[in-house]
Parts: sequence; structure tokens; C-alpha cells
Amino acid sequence: NTKRRQLVVGNWKMNGNRQENAALLAQILSGWPGQSPVQVVICPPFPYLYQVRDTLQGSAIELGAQNVNEEEKGALTGEVSAHMLADMDCKFAIIGHNERRRLQGETDDRVARKFIAAQHAGLIPILCIGESVAQRDQGLHLQVISRQLNAVIEVVGLDAFANAVVAYEPVWAVGTGKTATPVQAQEVHRHIRQQLGQYAESVRVLYGGSVKAHNAKELFALPDIDGALLGGASLDAQEFLTICSAAI
Ligand code: PEP
Repeated sequence: NTKRRQLVVGNWKMNGNRQENAALLAQILSGWPGQSPVQVVICPPFPYLYQVRDTLQGSAIELGAQNVNEEEKGALTGEVSAHMLADMDCKFAIIGHNERRRLQGETDDRVARKFIAAQHAGLIPILCIGESVAQRDQGLHLQVISRQLNAVIEVVGLDAFANAVVAYEPVWAVGTGKTATPVQAQEVHRHIRQQLGQYAESVRVLYGGSVKAHNAKELFALPDIDGALLGGASLDAQEFLTICSAAI
């Protein structure tokens, strides 16, 4: 995986406040070099985009959004468009996180439309896919992954993957403290690449699901893992920095 630039994305989810954010960012910035072979992205809650954007200015760390609305503008109270996020200097957008699929009822079709909206606004989509524990127990995980990925490919076209990131996040591993074993993760990451045609070797495929400082290194050592999407570990500066360094 030396051909692809390693990527670590911190998803703060619905956590933080101005004071905590300032302290966390100060610690992260003091520990992260201006230039690195690893690309680092932080995705704060929308109200804090300004704060995080201003604090990260001039650093090597980039800004991302946790979600986008698929429409350009209009009567959609409480929603935020991809263009607005690009206007706020976001470079990436997490699309189809399992918490949104499960808790906000996001369908594959809506996920596909969000993916298009993100790219249209100049954001790089980080498309999240992953099976449930029941699906894995039944041995259906590769089928589920194919279905979720193909549902998006059918709408956006394979060429959209010239500039997109995929994150494999088994639902049973996100926020649970249970991580996929290296063998489990590598199997799915390889399988994801096999669906990506001419982009198989160029798309960055991240692993997400209880990645911590103690297990990052063995996951990053796998040939088809190009970094991580982090939830909990992105809220602790030391843990976050250790994981970012493990990706070098
Ligand atoms: C996530 O939210 O994408 C995630 C992987 O969470 P955690 O690292 O806490 O499992």
C-alpha cells in the first residue's frame, strides 16, 4: 500500500464544545509535523467548523464534514448543503456513516445522492460501508459489502471513484471496542478493491471500528488498508497522534 497516501480521519461525532475543542486541537497541533506522508483530517460537528477551520489554518491537518444534504439549497430546515461545507473549506465529507444509515434512515439511494452532491461541490466523499453482526454471523458480509458498494456505483458510476475514499466499518466494531481481526479486515478490503475496476489499486480504503493506539499498527501493516476512520480515538490527542504516526 505504499502507492497510496495513508489517510487518518477523526470523526468527532456529536462531541465537544469550544473549550474542549481548543484544548484538543492545541495538543494535536503541537504533536503533528507541518508535513507528513500521512494525510490527517478532522470532522467536527457543524457548529464548530469555523473554530476548527480557523485553528487548523496553516497546519497540515484538513477539515471534513460528518454528513451532507444531497440537495443544493432550499426549504430543508436544519440541513447543510455540500456547497456550504466546501465554502467553509471542508475538503472531505463522510457519507453513509452507519449511525446515519441506522439512526437517520439513510438508504443506499440517498447515500449515493449525497456522494454525488459532495463531489459536485468539490468535496472528496468518504463512503462508509459495513455489515451488521448478524450478517457476519451468517457469512453474508462480503455479499452485503458488494450490495452497498454497487448500489452507489450504479448511481454515481465507477469513474466517480477516481476521487473518492471508501471506509470499511463493520457495524459491530464501531464504538464497541471490538475490532475486526487483521484477517477479517484484509479479506473485506481486498473484496472492496475487486469491485472498483480500474480504480482498484488507486482508491484509498480505510478501516474503521474501534481503532486504538494499541491495534492501529497491525491493521495499517495490511496491504489493502490505507489508514483509518476514527471515532472515539479522535477525541484523545495522545491516542489520535499515536494512530496518525502509526500510519507513517
Ligand atoms: C466511527 O465513528 O466511524 C468509528 C469508527 O468509531 P469508533 O472508532 O469509536 O469505533
